[in-house]
Amino acid sequence: MSTARPCPRCLLSEMDDASAEGLVRRGVDAILPKDRTEEKVYQERLSICRFCDNLLSGTCLSCGCYVEIRAAIKTGRCPDKKW
Ligand code: SF4
Repeated sequence: MSTARPCPRCLLSEMDDASAEGLVRRGVDAILPKDRTEEKVYQERLSICRFCDNLLSGTCLSCGCYVEIRAAIKTGRCPDKKW
């Protein structure tokens, strides 16, 4: 078990926590391929989240969602209209 505290600006997949990474993987896998964001756009969205003051340990404080899952949905939107 890691004693490291998660960085507030980390995404779940970047944390030293296999269960958090698994949560993202399962969430993204549950999205039908036709509804998934293309990889380039997905990474652009997450890049914006990484520098957003509303990101706290993979969760968006504006809407309470896990940003890596919301960003993976093609029609997903940032609640603060940043992407
Ligand atoms: S407000 Fe938008 S950019 Fe900021 S963490 Fe939430 S989804 Fe990401």
